[in-house]
Amino acid sequence: MTAPRDSAPPSSLIPARSESEQGERGAQEYRFFEVIQSYLDQAAQLVRLPDYMVSILSQPKNELIVHFPVRMDDGSYRTFKGYRIQHNNILGPYKGGLRFHPSAGLDDFKALSAMMTWKCALIGVPFGGAKGGIKYNPRDYSAEENQRITRRFIHALGSNIGPDYDIPAPDVGTGEQHMAWAMDTYMNTFGMVNRQAANRGVVTGKPVASGGTVGRTKATGQGVVHAIVDWAQRKGFELQGKKLIVQGFGNVGSHTAVLLSHLGVSLVGVGDHTGYLYTPEGFNAHRLQSYVRQNGSIAGYPNGQPISADEFFGVPADIFVPAALENQVGAKEAHALQVRLVAEGANGPCHPDGERILLERGIEILPDVFANAGGVTVSYYEWVQNRRSETWTLPEVDEKLEGAMRSGAATMYDMARRHGCSLRVACYAVALERLITAYEQRGIFP
Ligand code: NAD
Repeated sequence: MTAPRDSAPPSSLIPARSESEQGERGAQEYRFFEVIQSYLDQAAQLVRLPDYMVSILSQPKNELIVHFPVRMDDGSYRTFKGYRIQHNNILGPYKGGLRFHPSAGLDDFKALSAMMTWKCALIGVPFGGAKGGIKYNPRDYSAEENQRITRRFIHALGSNIGPDYDIPAPDVGTGEQHMAWAMDTYMNTFGMVNRQAANRGVVTGKPVASGGTVGRTKATGQGVVHAIVDWAQRKGFELQGKKLIVQGFGNVGSHTAVLLSHLGVSLVGVGDHTGYLYTPEGFNAHRLQSYVRQNGSIAGYPNGQPISADEFFGVPADIFVPAALENQVGAKEAHALQVRLVAEGANGPCHPDGERILLERGIEILPDVFANAGGVTVSYYEWVQNRRSETWTLPEVDEKLEGAMRSGAATMYDMARRHGCSLRVACYAVALERLITAYEQRGIFP
């Protein structure tokens, strides 16, 4: 299948809107951690989670906030605020991404760290949950400044991270270059006494030449695609010839769109922090991905017509992949969406009101904790390769990932069927059952 050619007339530059403006979608006040807690409470009732475990899992184990100074290119200094929230490590080392974004704060990191605990338990990788990052906009800084900010942050975290303790990875605003800087900083400071290759496993999502694994860059998008293919097979839904809209065209959104284009699914609407574009003929997802890599956003892409965010959510399509931030689909967006499936590439993209309306309208949701678990799954493969000094091939990584997503899907659908609950609550319930077993076997010290 060849990717569709871009054929819409050239657009003028899309008016840029600030990320904070765009981050305010879904107007209602949004407390991300409370939302995640409400799903935990629903699943806890289903699996009869013991009270002591409800209390343990309702808060992160550790909340670390650091302030650190960084020299700017003009010789001045600025102090940054960084976070690392470690939710749970009963099933393995803390694991979760680093987000560099101006709207990121403690509440988001607490929510995202808890989601990592459920995600790893559901998909069966032996890690716990963590998340962290810095509240700032990397786009406002030079590459050199971003490097110094990343290194000083990793230095400030010190021995609170480590290959056997807490393993960061990329998230919004960070990528493999940040992971190379993070690993190098760790190995030159905290890993000094033991500079073995295994210490490269302090972070995952590294460039391949620096100890990363093939298949990690596309892994989250690949996992979203496995989740969609699995869903389509269960529903007897033919993907070839179907239409897709994607919000967020960074790592997750762009790889999902490119991989779905190989299955004949056409990207007709796309948006990022600069605005939204539409073309009924379909974008060439490969070409758009290359453009974004070079230019940092979809702004100025010479195909497709600019549309508003409200128009984007009403674009007729079959699949919507939110792949930007949380709280993007509130009641208004849920009423507007004209799709059959929402596959959550992003973490927490649907407000509970949005989710309720989507489900009432018969629009199915593949929940984040399952749909975007491909990233942490392949991160685990990278960590195993680092420990064993092995190099796996792409077919090995791809095959293992597909197996993990298929098995995650089977347990999720089975739990939902047995309890008559939503797929989201089913994911949490599967995770909780695995956590209960571990807690009951180990008990609480002393
Ligand atoms: P990224 O930084 O590579 O891309 C983020 C995209 O979202 C960019 O295109 C950006 O322009 C867009 N965006 C930012 N603010 C926006 C706004 N207000 N409105 C519309 N678009 C906006 O980040 P990513 O790694 O692709 O992560 C995207 C989502 O996927 C996040 O929710 C993240 O937690 C989740 N996720 C990422 C991974 C991973 O491996 N990177 C794994 C699991 C889940």
